[in-house]
Amino acid sequence: MSLFATFKKGGVHPADKKSLSKDISIERLDLPGELLVLMGQHLGAPATLLKKTGDHVVRGEKIGEASSFISANVHSPVSGVIVDVRRVVAASGAVSDAAVIQPDAHQPGPGEEGSFTERQDWRSMDKAAMLSHMKEMGLVGQGGATFPAHVKFSLPPGKKAHALIVNCVECEPYLTCDYRLMMERADELLEGVEVCARIIEPDEVIIGIEANKLDAADHIEERIRSLGLLAGGKPYRVQRLRMKYPQGDEKQLVKATIGREIPSGKLPIDVGAVVLNAASALSTYKAFAYNLPCIERVVTVSGECIAKPGNYLVPIGTKASYLIEKAGGFTEEPDKLISGGPMMGFAFVDEDTPITKGFGGLLALKDQKKGSQTACISCGRCVSACPIGLQPTRMYHLIVRGQYAEAMKTGLMDCKECGCCAYSCPAHLDLVHAFKTGKRMGRKK
Ligand code: SF4
Ligand code: SF4
Repeated sequence: MSLFATFKKGGVHPADKKSLSKDISIERLDLPGELLVLMGQHLGAPATLLKKTGDHVVRGEKIGEASSFISANVHSPVSGVIVDVRRVVAASGAVSDAAVIQPDAHQPGPGEEGSFTERQDWRSMDKAAMLSHMKEMGLVGQGGATFPAHVKFSLPPGKKAHALIVNCVECEPYLTCDYRLMMERADELLEGVEVCARIIEPDEVIIGIEANKLDAADHIEERIRSLGLLAGGKPYRVQRLRMKYPQGDEKQLVKATIGREIPSGKLPIDVGAVVLNAASALSTYKAFAYNLPCIERVVTVSGECIAKPGNYLVPIGTKASYLIEKAGGFTEEPDKLISGGPMMGFAFVDEDTPITKGFGGLLALKDQKKGSQTACISCGRCVSACPIGLQPTRMYHLIVRGQYAEAMKTGLMDCKECGCCAYSCPAHLDLVHAFKTGKRMGRKK
């Protein structure tokens, strides 16, 4: 494996814009006056709300029960009172019940119920207990996909995870929360990795980090050496990666780190890999070392319209408006607010949209002056940019003609909606929007 590996097919190089918040340490904010805790903030079925208006809840108490195999528990991020239950739209557009919680003036201190300050001996747990603890704690993939962790780490019979790949790529422009975790919480992050490695027993652990974070790569490598972390008898390995978007996507990361191609419709485990995101590793650490459920996360607040970009540790359920206010408000009115990164994130308009487990970035951006849309000039740049090897121009033409079934046959469902094609298109066609519509219509047909 070369010093700076990458995936081969497609990809683009957007400006990384990370300097706005990269050097700003994680700041834990004071509690907001109200939290909106969604029951649907993970992939799969929303959790079933266990509480009602008027109930008092303790920090870390389970308030939502996983309602099916692919679902996740939800816990109260604070001690407080549920003052309302209502339907709330997540940044992703998904609608579910939310508990509106007003925090108590007094939050649990050391030794009190809900403080989670007592060290736990997770190394004495067996695998079954560890998986059930993952489920109990409501752990999900926090890189954006929010796949329930207990499902991901329950390997299908006959499957072996040769590699546990830790996704510290953070290839989306602006986002720096994972970088700050690597710089400030490396030992805890690595203990979260150890927990996961103990469950799936990989032959190797590989930590993928892009070349714009070489200081983090050096730091993680030094901590691995110092902590003596081994998998399959070998030290955990830091794989430095060339900068290329969308390297943080599982498919591209697996290709870049272990050279395996995940076939269409398959998962990393089908080629012997399990991928774990940096923020998820930290939540795993908190859940196993302190029994702390997934109730808080670091969010990068950034973009040219934010007065004080930074990386803020907040309870799940904090409203975007509160984060914007704490980040100094807007310097000028943004054209759009985005949850996640500018390439694959979700645009939202309601500033009261709550932070969820997978919400790693809150961006306030001006529209890029890209020029007006023209007809496709058949230049083929979108085809060269597609990391999946699709033919975006062909899919686009089929969709605008309403030939959804034909578009499906050309691999539309394999489209990751990564935006590389649209980014490269000189005709400024809204290709990703067309693909989302095409998938929806194709499924209906
Ligand atoms: S959005 Fe879809 S078609 Fe376009 S580059 Fe990404 S995967 Fe390929
Ligand atoms: S990049 Fe745009 S203009 Fe060029 S072939 Fe693709 S869709 Fe057409």
